[in-house]
Amino acid sequence: MARAIIITGGNLDNVKARLRQAQQMINERLGVILRCSHMYESEAWGFTASDNFLNQAIELDTDLTPEELLQGVQAIEKELGRDRTAEAAIKAANGEAYSSRKIDIDILFYDDVVISTPELTIPHPLMHERDFVLAPLSEIAPSKIHPIFDKTVRELRGELHARQSMEK
Ligand code: ADP
Ligand code: MG
Repeated sequence: MARAIIITGGNLDNVKARLRQAQQMINERLGVILRCSHMYESEAWGFTASDNFLNQAIELDTDLTPEELLQGVQAIEKELGRDRTAEAAIKAANGEAYSSRKIDIDILFYDDVVISTPELTIPHPLMHERDFVLAPLSEIAPSKIHPIFDKTVRELRGELHARQSMEK
């Protein structure tokens, strides 16, 4: 069994109910949920959107391999209405790298495993740059050590805030 931390998020119609549904499906299919953060609201990152995002970090025990966990979260995204074809069209039309979405589920950690393949990168490669990830993550796992940076989640968040205040 492995301990994984994943993050759910989204910003389109009734996202709070959808994140709750995702949480239930994760617990039914992917493992046993141990801890969930609150849902954190943030403004869109890397593109313009009228609806703010909500994000929730979830820690679970799972018997799935990392690849199976990815397949599992992608199946849940699909069932909850994620339409990658529509998103791709919006990104192309706006010339932006990201778009609004009903649901996004990313794997942040899987034990202390480090994976880098075209389909799957663990730990999630941008988590330390995103306060919308580090805020919910530090609520449930502040002392978790990032296996590449060898720093706790709390330290990574402190460093991100320090960099952000330098930029201002
Ligand atoms: P993003 O989450 O960056 O906005 P998507 O949800 O569309 O974008 O995911 C794009 C691809 O990222 C997925 O098809 C998946 O193969 C890949 N991916 C790589 N690492 C991860 C990870 N840790 N968690 C989830 N998806 C990942
Ligand atoms: Mg994703």
